[in-house]
Amino acid sequence: MKEESAFQRLKRKLGERGFSPSSLLGQNFLVDTNLLRSIAETFPLGPSDLVVEIGPGPGSLTRPLLERGARVLAFEVDQRLAAFLEEEVSSWGVEGSLDLVVLDILQRGKLNPLFLEKLREAGVPGRPYALMSNLPYSVAGPVLAGLASCEIPPARMACLVQWEMGRRLAAAPGSKDYGPLGILVQAAFEVRIQKRVSPEVFRPRPKVDSALLTLERREAVPFLGLEEREREAFGRFLRRLFASRRKALRNGLKSLGWADLVPKLVDPDGGLAWPEARLGWRPERLCGEELLELFCFGFLELGLDV
Ligand code: SAM
Repeated sequence: MKEESAFQRLKRKLGERGFSPSSLLGQNFLVDTNLLRSIAETFPLGPSDLVVEIGPGPGSLTRPLLERGARVLAFEVDQRLAAFLEEEVSSWGVEGSLDLVVLDILQRGKLNPLFLEKLREAGVPGRPYALMSNLPYSVAGPVLAGLASCEIPPARMACLVQWEMGRRLAAAPGSKDYGPLGILVQAAFEVRIQKRVSPEVFRPRPKVDSALLTLERREAVPFLGLEEREREAFGRFLRRLFASRRKALRNGLKSLGWADLVPKLVDPDGGLAWPEARLGWRPERLCGEELLELFCFGFLELGLDV
């Protein structure tokens, strides 16, 4: 008789429990062992290295991470999968250790404070961590925005997201995908699309392609020197400014209630001494550093609110 593949075994065991995947929770499981292994091997990992995984599901990525000896701190919202994973791990005989927390990673659209508390309990920020995850599509944007804005961002990440989301996260100024999410995340991380991934490697198959991304935290950038509430305010500023992305910058800033800022941007005396022509640009022509400079001048120096 032909031997059962890892995926067939998983399907059978989940089936015996009457489990059927929830599309609402983005339960598209990765079944390509080569891809799983290559994600787990993205960064060098040792026994004391902390890896955070969001949505371990039945543990397809967790397992190669544990086999590499990592200490994995995982957050899963689905109690059924968490119970299944706990049972599975005990039979794997792997070197690493798993700390599994049943938790919704988001609370009211933002990173759940309990998630950050668990990270602190695990020794962060004294101990840097990597985040490795096949992110559920419904939470990927707020999770990555939250990690960029929080006080304890990961040192690096390797994650799968929907292809369109990957393009937005890695977009360059002037491109059609360039917008608030990518600018905010790129302020904290260098984002790279490593690979386009076909729906074929998931079960059930999603409708769209995915992107495998790596994100490396930038060192000594002004954005990471801001306080958490200031980073969050930068996110709000970007969302509001890009809500009227077709307007020239001077008009966009006026709609934001930041009209006072406009003359100071071009003022060489105590202002930013920007060239006048830039005020006529659409915000999407400005790079992240310019948008951050603009925000910091208005929010921090002039006390404008957003
Ligand atoms: N890591 C597994 C894999 O690669 O096959 C599963 C990935 S599956 C795309 C997403 C996982 O995230 C599911 O297990 C789902 O239950 C979990 N999930 C969905 N929403 C979540 C949330 N808000 N908080 C925590 N986990 C969540």
